[in-house]
Amino acid sequence: MELANKVAVITGAGSGIGRASSLKLASNGATVVLVDFNKETGEETLKLVKEQGREGIFVQADVSKSEDVQNYVNKAVETYGRIDIFFNNAGVIQKFAPFTTVEETEFDRIMSINVKGVFLGLKYVLKVMEEQGSGSIINTASTAGIRPEHSVAVYSASKHAVIGLTKGAALEYAKKGIRINALCPGGVQTALTASVAEQFEKGGYVQDEISNMRMGRYADPNELAEMVAFLASDKASYMTGSIALVDGGLTL
Ligand code: NAD
Repeated sequence: MELANKVAVITGAGSGIGRASSLKLASNGATVVLVDFNKETGEETLKLVKEQGREGIFVQADVSKSEDVQNYVNKAVETYGRIDIFFNNAGVIQKFAPFTTVEETEFDRIMSINVKGVFLGLKYVLKVMEEQGSGSIINTASTAGIRPEHSVAVYSASKHAVIGLTKGAALEYAKKGIRINALCPGGVQTALTASVAEQFEKGGYVQDEISNMRMGRYADPNELAEMVAFLASDKASYMTGSIALVDGGLTL
C-alpha cells in the first residue's frame, strides 16, 4: 500500500485511462476524488472503488469551467483535508478533418477542455500543494504532443500545450516539493479511440497508425495506470518535468 494515507484527485475518472488509474491508485492505498463531466460513468467508477473496499467521492465537473474546477478542488480539501496526487487527465479528441475545414468552434472546444482544463486544474491544485509543501501531478498529454498525428492538428497543438504547461509548472515548483510530469500515451483502447475508429478508417488513416504501433496492438488502459501509479509515488522522487512515454514504440 505505497499510497496509503494519500489523497488523489483524478479528472476524466469515468472512463478509459482515468478509470483504470483511479482503480489502480485506490488499490495502492489512495483515497480518491473522482471528477468527470459524465455523472453516470463517474459514479460507476466510484462503485468499483468501493467494491475494492477503498474510500472516495465523485464530483461532477466540466474541467473547462473555472467554477467547476474550484468546486472539485474545494470538495477534495473539505472532505479529506489535502491533495497529494493530481491526475489531470480529462481530454477530448478532435474530429478528423483537413486543416482548412476545421471550424473555429471545434478549435475552441478542444483548446478549452484539453488546454484550459489542464491549466485551471494546475492553477487551483498547485495552491493547495504549495501550502502543503508536497505533491505529485501527472498531466495527460499524448504522443501527439511530441509529433503530430494526421488530420488532427488542433488536438496535436493542444497536447503540445499540455507538455508546455507541464514543463513550465515543473520548473517553478521543483524547489517546492511538487513534482509535475506528463503522461504520453500512444494508442489506447478506450471510448475515445472507439469514437474515432470509423473516421480513422474513412480517411485511410488507421492502417498508417497500426503500422506505427510497433507492438501491433493498442495499449490496455491498465498499462497506462501502472505509469500513473509510479509517477504518483515516492518511487519517482527524482522525476519532474518529464515526458513519460507509454506508447508501445509508436514514436520510434
Ligand atoms: P475516454 O473518452 O475514455 O475518457 C475521457 C473521460 O474524460 C470521459 O469520462 C469524459 O466524460 C471525460 N471528460 C471529457 N470532457 C470532460 C470535461 N470537459 N470535463 C470533465 N470530464 C470530461 O478517453 P481516454 O482515452 O481515457 O483519454 C484520457 C486522456 O488520455 C485524454 O486527455 C486523451 O486526450 C489522452 N490520450 C488518449 C489516447 C488514447 O489512445 N485513448 C492517446 C493519447 C492521449
